[in-house]
Amino acid sequence: SAKENGKNDFQIFMPFMLMKNLKKIEIEKSLKKAIEADQFELYYQPVINLKDMEIHSVEALLRWVLPEKGIISPLEFIPVAEESGLIVKIGEMVIEKAFSDLKNWERKGISYLHMAINLSARQFKTKFFENMVQKLIEQYGVDPKKISFEITETGAVENFDVSLKILSFLCQLGIRFLIDDFGTGYSSLIYLKKLPIGGVKIDRSFISEIEFSKENRAIVEGIILMAHKLDLKVVAEGVETKRELEILKEIGCDFAQGYLFSKPLPKTQVEKLLLARKITV
Ligand code: C2E
Ligand code: MG
Ligand code: MG
Ligand code: MG
Repeated sequence: SAKENGKNDFQIFMPFMLMKNLKKIEIEKSLKKAIEADQFELYYQPVINLKDMEIHSVEALLRWVLPEKGIISPLEFIPVAEESGLIVKIGEMVIEKAFSDLKNWERKGISYLHMAINLSARQFKTKFFENMVQKLIEQYGVDPKKISFEITETGAVENFDVSLKILSFLCQLGIRFLIDDFGTGYSSLIYLKKLPIGGVKIDRSFISEIEFSKENRAIVEGIILMAHKLDLKVVAEGVETKRELEILKEIGCDFAQGYLFSKPLPKTQVEKLLLARKITV
């Protein structure tokens, strides 16, 4: 009977497993081709300094552009890229494109601009990651003080010693680290403070309810107070309404980004905003 059950399990389970794996293998194959064909593009979303309401930086957000088929969201392919290890190559390409674009904008007179780049834990903990970054900094001649890397709480504190070593090295070069999606993980600020972190980005889920939910507002206010006491900057993610913006200013948030200001845009489109430096909302 156990064998019968096993057989049943096999029949029910296998097609599902197979499909799931096939899909992954398919995505992985196409990802490899996409790397060769250079089908990746960076979109950029402005980040606003709430002190003067001017653009401070852009966050580079990866897009996989399939000719005639459309654009694939990073939420769909980053997990596969991480699992397969392809994220190392893709991530290096992201940094290279971002540095190159930053440098080009600098040449066009947009010299105030800082750049935030997302990193996967798997990517930044690979051997020689920090050397690769240092090499690209020199090659493109970018000012490391203009670069922030965004990592998640879990990514930051997992394998703490490895994190500490890599972050410290890059921090000494002048690069800053931000904790992305802050509030959704479960590490404490005190623990994070043992790492050279420059700021936190409060997750969109807290911001989107801030007008209506006393709890969310309390959480966001609390994060800002604690962060400032610890000498950390605070960025609010996913700001969509003027009211959200007003509240964030009121409670002392440093930076904000979101659809209220601009969606992530291809570089030729974001450039107009960068030249103007101010976005009317
Ligand atoms: P993230 O780093 O937290 O980026 C913020 C996400 O929120 C972006 O989604 C952005 O388009 C979206 N967003 C910004 N403002 C608003 C808003 O006002 N409303 C709403 N509803 N959404 C907003 P996107 O571009 O799809 O990226 C998703 C995630 O994929 C990113 O989350 C990041 O974790 C990851 N990702 C993107 N690019 C890269 C990359 O180059 N490398 C790695 N490792 N991960 C990346
Ligand atoms: Mg991010
Ligand atoms: Mg985020
Ligand atoms: Mg995220």
